[in-house]
Amino acid sequence: MAVDGRAGGPQPPNEVPLLTNGELALVFHEIGDLLEIKGELVFKTVAYHRAADAIAHSPVEIARAYRAGTQPRIPGVGKAISDKIAELATTGRLAFLDRLHAEVPGSLVEVLAIPGLGPKTVKLLWEGLGITTLDGLRTALDSGALRDAKGITEKGEQAIRFGLDALEQRSVRMTLGDAERIVGSIIELLGDTPGVVALTPAGSFRRRRETIGDLDILAETSDPGALIERFTALPPVEHVVGAGPQKKASIRLLRGPQVDLMTFPPGDAGTYLVHFTGSKDHNVRLRGIARDRGWSLSEKGFLRLGDDGEPAAGAAAELRTFATEAEVYAFLGLAEVPPELREDRGEVEAARDGRLPHLIVEADLRGDCHAHSSWSDGVHSIEQMAETARARGYAYLVLTDHSHGLAIARGLTPERVLAQREIVRDLNRRFASEEDAGTAPVATPAEGFRLLHGCELEIRADGALDFDDEILTAFDVVVAALHQGRRQPRAQLTERVLGAIRSPHVDVIAHPAGRMLGERARDDLDLAWDEIFAAAAANGTLLEIDGSDHRLDLAPERARRAVEAGCLLTIDSDAHRTEELAGIRWGVAQARRAWVEPAVVANTWPRDALLAWVATKPGRLR
Ligand SMILES: [Zn+2]
Ligand SMILES: [Zn+2]
Repeated sequence: MAVDGRAGGPQPPNEVPLLTNGELALVFHEIGDLLEIKGELVFKTVAYHRAADAIAHSPVEIARAYRAGTQPRIPGVGKAISDKIAELATTGRLAFLDRLHAEVPGSLVEVLAIPGLGPKTVKLLWEGLGITTLDGLRTALDSGALRDAKGITEKGEQAIRFGLDALEQRSVRMTLGDAERIVGSIIELLGDTPGVVALTPAGSFRRRRETIGDLDILAETSDPGALIERFTALPPVEHVVGAGPQKKASIRLLRGPQVDLMTFPPGDAGTYLVHFTGSKDHNVRLRGIARDRGWSLSEKGFLRLGDDGEPAAGAAAELRTFATEAEVYAFLGLAEVPPELREDRGEVEAARDGRLPHLIVEADLRGDCHAHSSWSDGVHSIEQMAETARARGYAYLVLTDHSHGLAIARGLTPERVLAQREIVRDLNRRFASEEDAGTAPVATPAEGFRLLHGCELEIRADGALDFDDEILTAFDVVVAALHQGRRQPRAQLTERVLGAIRSPHVDVIAHPAGRMLGERARDDLDLAWDEIFAAAAANGTLLEIDGSDHRLDLAPERARRAVEAGCLLTIDSDAHRTEELAGIRWGVAQARRAWVEPAVVANTWPRDALLAWVATKPGRLR
């Protein structure tokens, strides 16, 4: 018996349980964390975390290989770490970690797991206040002890409280970008499993909810057993939550979300996709319609109901399955509802009455009205940003570096604005001549590509705009935003935004609600929204759907209300590096969730139409 064996004396090596790669990786992540808290040099702590990642992703079962005396080469694992793996593999223990625990309480690793809390703060809490556990931290927060502590600001205290709440509710949710990376890498790892016809992400990610908790993957396969075996043995798995009877399985990823895999036979995708994509409310509606028509709907298909209202048995039993979602909706007398709309917000009635919107798609966009360069807080040069936009097939990109009032983002002074303008002009000369010579990128549209000069104009705390009229008139497109003085009373905040909306020079209000999602979550600004929408509609000031997956601002309900109030929108990337220009797809997804059609989005228009619209603004002012 293993239990008896452990009770008496040292264990023989063959009774030491074999650590999985996931367990080994956790040990090295813990060492990295503890060293960070201790204040060890960054390169050392990073080395442990990097080794842990390599171990977690290794296809080899590392502990078994070490026991067998064949030490596989693992990237990032040198002699010091390799010796530690050997010790762990053979004894199940690590003297180095025991010594570390004597210096730094191991429970601090949990405290470090609070989203947004770094090792320096953890060290401060531990050494300054003797806090070593989550419970201790909660007590200190509730008693107000943190407020008086040295080195912790009021903002810091709020962040700790928010992070602790999030951790306790396990409500740390992924951004869409994170979810896409994780689900994409899993699908890539499983894609060539024998029998697999298709792997499709489902659930809230497929509906493009703003943030994602768990992930769902649907697998159409003739060999579910083989797929589940591969899935539950994926290298980055921390543990297998449950493997069902050969049809489904759940895993929790190392330092990541839970992922559910559901398999079904080839040809039956329709009802499975419908069932595992729609929100609960949407699916309830569909089941109701099915029942009215004499069928019971589940993921497996439609079962004919008998006279008693129960699925018919015996000879009368009938199961209808479909290969596509369109056929499932058609069987219910409905048009196919796009995944982003499946929330029971009126889409079922619209699908029944042929009133579903003609939703915007990414290809409708001809340009992007909000992007930064290294001149303010972006990473890449003006030219790199412009070239990437040009290669995307856009007709324009509006360069919108911050204005000087936003010092933390290295906002531009008027002098630097003028210097930028020269660069933009020179680039546009080159673009025009390349178009004339036929040497522009093939993706370039017939109207050509131009870099438009704009700025992200700070709406100052006192409501003033950050540049004077003379500078503002010279921009092609001005995007205004509020980043400071967020806690003013509603009337004052609203007045600041209204001031920008009514300015003859402001064309777009960027990220109007000032919200932040994910770890740095911040609520929407407290604005009188109906006044904002009415003023934006009356003056033709465009309201942005910011595509950054940390913002997605406006939210769908607000964007839908804005369009109903007669507002026009833009969908922008707010890119701070070239790769983020592609992030505009999250803005498109958000717009689709808001039922937005292309005509009300100003950056679906030709460049000349957009420029004409913003140029005639003074004449529209009320
Ligand atoms: Zn901004
Ligand atoms: Zn911005």
